[in-house]
Amino acid sequence: MRYLLAILLALAAAAEAQAQSDFKVTLLGTASPSPRPNRFGPSTLVEAGDQKLLFDAGRGVPIRMWQIKVPMGKLDALFITHFHSDHVSGVPDLWLTGWLGPEFGRRAAPFRVIGPIGTKALMENIEKAYAADIKIRLEDEKLPPAGIAVAPEEFDRDGVVYERNGVKVTAFEVDHGPGIKPAYGYRVDYKGRSVVISGDTRYNENVIKYGTGSDLLIHEVGSARKELMVNLFAQRIIAHHTTPSEAGQVFAKAKPKLAVYTHIVLLSSATIPEPTLDDVVAETRTTYSGPLEVGEDLMAFEVGDTVTVKRP
Ligand SMILES: [Zn+2]
Ligand SMILES: [Zn+2]
Repeated sequence: MRYLLAILLALAAAAEAQAQSDFKVTLLGTASPSPRPNRFGPSTLVEAGDQKLLFDAGRGVPIRMWQIKVPMGKLDALFITHFHSDHVSGVPDLWLTGWLGPEFGRRAAPFRVIGPIGTKALMENIEKAYAADIKIRLEDEKLPPAGIAVAPEEFDRDGVVYERNGVKVTAFEVDHGPGIKPAYGYRVDYKGRSVVISGDTRYNENVIKYGTGSDLLIHEVGSARKELMVNLFAQRIIAHHTTPSEAGQVFAKAKPKLAVYTHIVLLSSATIPEPTLDDVVAETRTTYSGPLEVGEDLMAFEVGDTVTVKRP
């Protein structure tokens, strides 16, 4: 009887540990540049232990972070995939608003930004653009100077770009088209589990290489109806992204425990509507039959023995 009780307690503890995985991913924004009220700019929050890492900072990132009560001042680092504005237009807001006194801000240490070559220039120029605000708030609100300092770090090849207390982040080059360089994806490893974020890319073998065996593979996708693909502009945009059937091939080869779409590019014209999300899934199913979620803003994933989806 006593043994039975011990076993039951152990099982309950294991279930509890599973339910409260300390490796969590939240999609803060799942759009492309198109301004949609229900999908903000691309941004993904990864929480591993007590560390909070943000991947890209698109439009509306401070709003989404505060919706889930994660103070901007508590971020350990921001990682940038590439310099398209939809991925960085939220950076000044995150940096400046995260410094303010209320609970949503309160950054007291330098803002750590890690990205490909160009990250330092981006941050230097943002600092110049907002110099007047910073000067005013330093004098008027007496905010801590350290909290508005910037600590950018750059890399120029695949490799580990962050490692702290068992959390490792590896950057890997992707292919967003010949004219859009640099462009990177990231893999986060923690306690033997991994989350991979494709960044913006066409079908790319490097995503398969780094995504193989991952628990969660978060991938971009771009789609337009056949009728629209006679349009040169649509052809050019779609050529920079991964179509649903191509993404399905990536998932089929990498075999993540769960594949998730974010950065959902749906093209349309005045006369041709955008594809539906059901269309996107149906096309993915022509090449991939495994676990798949179409991401939504604030959809979250607990990465434990299994990957659990928490719908917003
Ligand atoms: Zn993009
Ligand atoms: Zn892009």
